[in-house]
Amino acid sequence: ANFMRVIVSSTAPGLEQHQGTDLLCVVRALLKKIRRRVLVGDRVLVGAVDWTDRRGMIEDVFERRSEMADPPVANVDRLVVLFSLDQPEPEPATLTRFLVEAESTGIPFVLAFNKVELVDDQIISYWRDRMKSWGYDPLFLSVDQRSGLSALEEILEGQTTVVVGPSGVGKSSLINALRCNQNISEEDPIHQLLEQNSKWFGEQRVGTVSKKSGKGKHTTRHVSLLPIVDGGFLADTPGFNQPSLMKVTKRGLAETFPEIRKMLEENEPSRCLFNDCVHLGEHGCVVEGDWERYPYYQQLLDEIKIRESFQ
Ligand code: GDP
Ligand code: ZN
Repeated sequence: ANFMRVIVSSTAPGLEQHQGTDLLCVVRALLKKIRRRVLVGDRVLVGAVDWTDRRGMIEDVFERRSEMADPPVANVDRLVVLFSLDQPEPEPATLTRFLVEAESTGIPFVLAFNKVELVDDQIISYWRDRMKSWGYDPLFLSVDQRSGLSALEEILEGQTTVVVGPSGVGKSSLINALRCNQNISEEDPIHQLLEQNSKWFGEQRVGTVSKKSGKGKHTTRHVSLLPIVDGGFLADTPGFNQPSLMKVTKRGLAETFPEIRKMLEENEPSRCLFNDCVHLGEHGCVVEGDWERYPYYQQLLDEIKIRESFQ
């Protein structure tokens, strides 16, 4: 069987002493039968708990605050969109794709540029100004030199965070720099189970305990949540570095560009003449075409139109 790791966070009477304990859990068969997927980051109800062996069974999944599809993580509080200033240099079209994807989730995000020590100050201020004109105020950091990390840690404290960005920018390095080294001791029964089950383990947050029940098998996920230093979790998401834009609609795309949002706000209450304006120079449109990312907006709109025509 596969297991998911559940961290107990219940203040119910009698459970205080188990707060923070991790339990190795299978998922109740019934949940799978009714197609209730358990995602990493889910708050779950755990039953059939054996406190000695630290085993249990996930019996139910609580309502989610948020749900990301790509990577599949529930209850994400924040995203970090990570790029690097060099090796690789930021590519405006790719950066725009990641920003649009992040905006479309509705989850607050931070834009950060890594590897600042590889470039001189002019490059940093160039990107700061350029991002400002796009409507963003990025952080600049170097994971290698551990500079700028505390500002980021402050933002991420106590939250569940997913780091996204193209490959090579330092996502894994950042996650390693921020996670706490909670090495599981070899005597710990969990350690032995981990050894026996070379398959991947999900980490889930929060369980409460219910009555005993039957047994179940369970599926694998390729995401895990790692505890970070100041409390909170970081999702380790290898391989999720291609924004699909599947959640972005033709009408919704404009909302993912701060430049367009600003132009629309400035023209309140009139806005565009037509309600379904997609801002491509239609009659009575208040969105002008003289901003840097307008060509990207047009390209993405074309891409989404084509996708929608196949749906
Ligand atoms: P990922 O693909 O986004 O997960 O990137 P990695 O964390 O694997 O990092 C890619 C490469 O960038 C590795 O060789 C890292 O050592 C290097 N790297 C990460 N952070 C920094 C940094 O702050 N400065 C420099 N110069 N290299 C870095
Ligand atoms: Zn318009």
